Amino acid sequence: MKLKVNKDLCIACGACQAAAYEVFEIEDDGLAGVRVEEVPEELVEDALDALEGCPTDAIEEVK
Ligand code: SF4
Repeated sequence: MKLKVNKDLCIACGACQAAAYEVFEIEDDGLAGVRVEEVPEELVEDALDALEGCPTDAIEEVK
Protein backbone atom coordinates (compact mmCIF):
# COMPACT_ATOMS: atom_id res chain seq x y z
CA MET A 1 0.00 0.00 0.00
CA LYS A 2 1.20 3.48 -0.92
CA LEU A 3 -0.16 6.66 0.60
CA LYS A 4 0.17 10.35 -0.01
CA VAL A 5 -0.94 13.51 1.75
CA ASN A 6 -2.79 16.18 -0.18
CA LYS A 7 -1.07 19.24 1.26
CA ASP A 8 -3.82 21.55 0.03
CA LEU A 9 -6.18 19.84 2.48
CA CYS A 10 -3.85 19.11 5.42
CA ILE A 11 -4.42 21.34 8.44
CA ALA A 12 -1.40 20.00 10.35
CA CYS A 13 -3.48 18.60 13.19
CA GLY A 14 -1.02 15.77 13.79
CA ALA A 15 -3.68 13.06 14.10
CA CYS A 16 -2.12 10.88 11.40
CA GLN A 17 1.24 10.94 13.12
CA ALA A 18 -0.42 10.06 16.42
CA ALA A 19 -2.18 7.10 14.80
CA ALA A 20 0.78 5.81 12.79
CA TYR A 21 4.04 7.48 13.77
CA GLU A 22 6.15 5.17 11.64
CA VAL A 23 4.17 6.10 8.53
CA PHE A 24 3.52 9.84 8.85
CA GLU A 25 5.70 12.76 9.80
CA ILE A 26 5.30 16.49 10.03
CA GLU A 27 7.62 17.87 7.37
CA ASP A 28 9.62 21.09 7.22
CA ASP A 29 6.63 22.90 5.69
CA GLY A 30 4.64 22.12 8.86
CA LEU A 31 2.30 19.78 7.05
CA ALA A 32 2.06 16.02 7.17
CA GLY A 33 3.92 13.76 4.79
CA VAL A 34 4.43 10.05 4.33
CA ARG A 35 7.73 8.66 5.58
CA VAL A 36 7.68 5.41 3.68
CA GLU A 37 7.52 4.55 0.00
CA GLU A 38 5.47 1.45 0.75
CA VAL A 39 3.57 0.92 4.01
CA PRO A 40 4.87 -2.28 5.62
CA GLU A 41 2.25 -4.97 6.21
CA GLU A 42 2.39 -4.63 9.99
CA LEU A 43 1.63 -0.91 9.80
CA VAL A 44 -1.25 -1.07 7.31
CA GLU A 45 -3.92 -1.20 10.02
CA ASP A 46 -2.54 1.88 11.79
CA ALA A 47 -2.12 3.65 8.45
CA LEU A 48 -5.75 2.96 7.55
CA ASP A 49 -6.84 4.28 10.95
CA ALA A 50 -4.94 7.46 10.13
CA LEU A 51 -6.47 7.68 6.66
CA GLU A 52 -9.98 7.24 8.02
CA GLY A 53 -9.33 9.56 10.96
CA CYS A 54 -7.95 12.50 9.01
CA PRO A 55 -10.46 15.32 9.63
CA THR A 56 -10.02 16.80 6.17
CA ASP A 57 -9.64 13.57 4.14
CA ALA A 58 -6.18 14.70 3.13
CA ILE A 59 -4.71 11.19 3.08
CA GLU A 60 -5.16 9.20 -0.10
CA GLU A 61 -4.17 5.76 -1.21
CA VAL A 62 -2.00 5.81 -4.32
CA LYS A 63 -3.14 3.09 -6.71
S1 SF4 B 1 -4.56 13.88 10.03
FE1 SF4 B 1 -4.88 14.84 8.02
S2 SF4 B 1 -5.05 17.04 8.44
FE2 SF4 B 1 -4.15 16.09 10.26
S3 SF4 B 1 -1.91 16.30 9.94
FE3 SF4 B 1 -2.52 14.29 9.12
S4 SF4 B 1 -2.93 14.65 6.92
FE4 SF4 B 1 -2.90 16.64 7.94
